[in-house]
Amino acid sequence: MSTLEIKGLVASVAGKQILNGIDLVVRSGEVHAVMGPNGAGKSTLSAVVMGKPGYEVHSGQVLLDGVDLLDLPTWQRAQAGVHLVMQYPSEVPGVDLTEMLSEAYTARGRDTSELAEQVSAEAERIHFPADLLHRSLNVDLSGGEKKRNETLQLALLTPKFAILDELDSGLDIDALRDCARRVEAATHDSNLGVLAITHYNRLLEELHPDHVHILVKGRIVASGGPELADQLEIDGYEAFTGGAEEAAAEPTGGSYDDLFAL
Ligand code: ADP
Ligand code: MG
Repeated sequence: MSTLEIKGLVASVAGKQILNGIDLVVRSGEVHAVMGPNGAGKSTLSAVVMGKPGYEVHSGQVLLDGVDLLDLPTWQRAQAGVHLVMQYPSEVPGVDLTEMLSEAYTARGRDTSELAEQVSAEAERIHFPADLLHRSLNVDLSGGEKKRNETLQLALLTPKFAILDELDSGLDIDALRDCARRVEAATHDSNLGVLAITHYNRLLEELHPDHVHILVKGRIVASGGPELADQLEIDGYEAFTGGAEEAAAEPTGGSYDDLFAL
């Protein structure tokens, strides 16, 4: 059993504070959905957890079984067991999927002798066309093919936690179902913990979240069970944005009197 704990995370990008104190705990086997309007900071959260360059962390921790990932370079965060499925997967000309996975396996001290068979079996399971396996990573793939490819990598690397940044964006219904079901299977088969960033209930119908959080203006303004996603479908984000404004208006520490005490 592992725990990914995000504690009091405050971060900015390009001089603008985007995350205003995020607290979240995900345990092995759990699925947490993070929903929020455009620009709420969802992708920023995933970027900061993985250590994408250009983001400045002002305070807080991201603890994987008690070890602060923020002290580690991105590759060590991945090796420690956190995997990001990117909203817009990068194209890597000249490197094919098996080569990339072979490097990742080797870095994790895993045997690569059966990798080709494992890749083929997984490709078949996720309906990723075998003739695309030898193409450069994500180059000239459709939106759906890219996300199937990303899900295949996730399935083979068996991380402890996966962050899915809009796995559903750019997917048709069949691809969405295949990818979501594969991730759902990993939560049972290898006790994968999931932080699924999404706009849509359709993904959650396949992924069955245990917890749903609503992120508005860099804060989690509501947390609940799957019923929260249903409520969101009816009420929209507007019902939750008032709370974020009130929270943002609160002084973050001490009282105004302290300002004059300086
Ligand atoms: P979401 O994923 O919830 O739609 P993002 O985390 O992508 O939101 O963006 C949150 C805010 O941060 C937006 O206002 C966006 O313009 C800004 N932002 C994100 N990345 C950058 C960047 N690299 N440079 C400048 N602004 C950024
Ligand atoms: Mg985003």
